[in-house]
Amino acid sequence: MTTSLYSPGTRVYLDSNDGWVPGEVISCTRGSGDSLVLVLKDENGQERTITGSGSALPLLRNPPLLESADDLATLSHLNEPSVLFAVQSRYAQRKIYTYSGIVLLAVNPFEPVPLYTPDIVKSYIGRNKGELEPHLFAIAEDAYAAMLLDGRGQTVIVSGESGAGKTESAKLVMRFIASPKVQTTTALQTTDADKNSFVDGASLVEQQIQATNPILEAFGNAKTTRNDNSSRFGKYIQLLFDTNRQIVGARVRTYLLERSRLSYQATTERNYHIFYQLCAGLPSQDLQELGLDSDYNQFHYLNQGGPSTSEMSDRDKFHAMQDALRIIGIDAQRQMQIFQILSALLHLGNINITQTRTDAGIDDDDPAMARAMEFLGVDASEFKKWTIKKQITTRSEKIVSPITAPQAVQVRDSISRFIYTCLFEWLVTAINVSLTGKYGDAAARAETYIGVLDIYGFEHFDKNSFEQFCINYANERLQHEFNTYVFKLAQEDYVKEKISWTFIDFDDNQPTIDLMESKVPPGILAILDEESRLPLGSDASFLQKLNAQLDKPANKAVYKMPKFANAAFTIAHYALDVTYQVEGFLEKNRDTVPEEHLTLLTSSENAFVREVLDTALHRTDTESAEPPSPASPVSKIPDPGRTSLAATTGRGTSVKKPTLGSIFKSSLGTLMDMLRMTNVHYIRCLKPNEHKRAWEFEPLQVLAQLRASGVIETIRISTAGYPSRWKFEDFSRRYLPLINWREGPQLVKREQWKRICVLCLQKGKIDKSLFQFGETKIFLRTGVLATLEGLRSTKL
Ligand code: ADP
Ligand code: MG
Repeated sequence: MTTSLYSPGTRVYLDSNDGWVPGEVISCTRGSGDSLVLVLKDENGQERTITGSGSALPLLRNPPLLESADDLATLSHLNEPSVLFAVQSRYAQRKIYTYSGIVLLAVNPFEPVPLYTPDIVKSYIGRNKGELEPHLFAIAEDAYAAMLLDGRGQTVIVSGESGAGKTESAKLVMRFIASPKVQTTTALQTTDADKNSFVDGASLVEQQIQATNPILEAFGNAKTTRNDNSSRFGKYIQLLFDTNRQIVGARVRTYLLERSRLSYQATTERNYHIFYQLCAGLPSQDLQELGLDSDYNQFHYLNQGGPSTSEMSDRDKFHAMQDALRIIGIDAQRQMQIFQILSALLHLGNINITQTRTDAGIDDDDPAMARAMEFLGVDASEFKKWTIKKQITTRSEKIVSPITAPQAVQVRDSISRFIYTCLFEWLVTAINVSLTGKYGDAAARAETYIGVLDIYGFEHFDKNSFEQFCINYANERLQHEFNTYVFKLAQEDYVKEKISWTFIDFDDNQPTIDLMESKVPPGILAILDEESRLPLGSDASFLQKLNAQLDKPANKAVYKMPKFANAAFTIAHYALDVTYQVEGFLEKNRDTVPEEHLTLLTSSENAFVREVLDTALHRTDTESAEPPSPASPVSKIPDPGRTSLAATTGRGTSVKKPTLGSIFKSSLGTLMDMLRMTNVHYIRCLKPNEHKRAWEFEPLQVLAQLRASGVIETIRISTAGYPSRWKFEDFSRRYLPLINWREGPQLVKREQWKRICVLCLQKGKIDKSLFQFGETKIFLRTGVLATLEGLRSTKL
């Protein structure tokens, strides 16, 4: 069997230190047993000999025609190096997009590219996916067309690691779909009157949709080591369409904003953009009023990453952000109130907490505290009291006891983080009110939608914590949906074409998901929640329970106690094994502020502060922040879930406080239910190098991402058995030169296509076991195309 794969001239990939090098077989002889002795030459002229069989032999390289195919699923040899080289050679030709079956791969160009001009937008409108070069717009058009076809909801899932280009891609997809041109050219029939109102209406809706970006980016993005504009939250935006398939509004859901950044930034990183924008963009009188300064390095919450110069123009961004706020209906006065809260947070961070011999202390007239409390509308002495003391309620009495300075700092920071998260939630609500109409009437008119999901990709750092755990959990769930979907598609193709096949197994990641989220027996999240509720629970006791309950033979493949790391556990993810440090898990999962502080804040003298907290604390599942009107319309569109913060607090003693982990789990669950009801379209963004350099491609790094994104695995699934599928017509036209057909390709008649296919296969001496005829397509096993291509090149 293996003999036929290798002969002099066979193109192969040879292992090398940094991946593979292309090479070629010089000679092939039989060794002992079923082994082969191959003499090979790599592209640098170096010779080597390999003796062995099976996987010891080099991987096969595709014929030149297929090598930079715009769809990887058409490759004849589907192995890692061929996938990688295809993407790499296309990138070298400045082609950043490549299909991989149903997935679009997008490699970040790291410089502006002329791919999104109005002309290009126009050229993709109304065209089928395969007709033009692979492009984001083709995926967007595909989604739009599918929605027109049967009114079904669509979701475009954009994933990839930080800095890979998700947010930019998501914005381009949205821009394409929301562009009036798309709608007027392809929408179902509308009357002229409709069209006019649509043009007016769309411009406002479109503006509002675009306005969400500068706002959410200012409040939810920050400079990290990996991306100067890194989104620190997940986002799902639904563009809503009415019966005429015109956009009537939109809806945004956000997931798990990173909280720690508000009070702590690693070296060279920054806090959320908005703080710097504020300092750079506000007129000096406003600055003075808010106790701010254009030199933000005086603020503890802004200077921990080291003195930072603004890399993006903070001042310009500030003004764009203000315009955007105005567009969604937040006027100058409201804006100033928002800025007050933001400056209160900066002052909170500057409160000087000292350590006396035993207890924490704050000066009564600490100026930072005075300012912060003034802006928050809270009594400073009460605030001070509950920051340096804690109250424990026992059965018979309440005991107040002092705490240490580090503990007091923790309390202070937890309050800042809490207020910021509430403000973010409030903004999202305000955006939704504006995008769906005040009483959700746009949502009610909506018949269908296209959603765009911009979600953090799989993460693994030297040190991984609760955040990575949640992110990777989300990715496991998404990967599972993806596998199921791709697998189903592959199956449908087989059934539709009536060919016989046997299923191959693919690596199902359900065991990993169970390990993370199972209720009975308790998985990691359940154990974490249980421990978080115990007053004396700690990271150490959490780990102990994990090991006691999960480190057993049944979990051998998915859960491991690392040999060399202390206070950590390892999960075998679909992408790779990740070791999580337990330190901070409990605290982050609990995510609480002391009860007394919550009471202070919710009874603030500042009505806006109360509103911000209330919106976040009491969000119900109605569309708008306003009380529903009597005729409150109900939306037909399923809602991908809210991330209510009621969780964070637990008011009243009888209510069990939901933890951050459990909120995340349930909002993911709703999102998954929603995805299952839609048609999904996938965009996988790839980062070609760590240095954000244009047109530099580091193969090993991209390979790691292709593995982590499941692309390689899915190619295997979707094409298992018969990697190549060609329509009779396409196949017969291409291989016509192999046989002595009487007429040219133009003259071949439809009923002859299949016959020609048979003749070509015979000519190539292709074994019967290597192909099957379906109803309209021919299915080929790996390597067949390469053989035919070889023959074809000798005939031309
Ligand atoms: P992610 O959301 O995946 O973390 P971003 O979408 O923020 O990454 O992209 C990071 C940076 O890469 C952007 O700020 C931009 O400089 C560059 N970039 C991404 N996509 C493109 C593109 N299509 N064209 C040009 N530059 C891009
Ligand atoms: Mg992003």
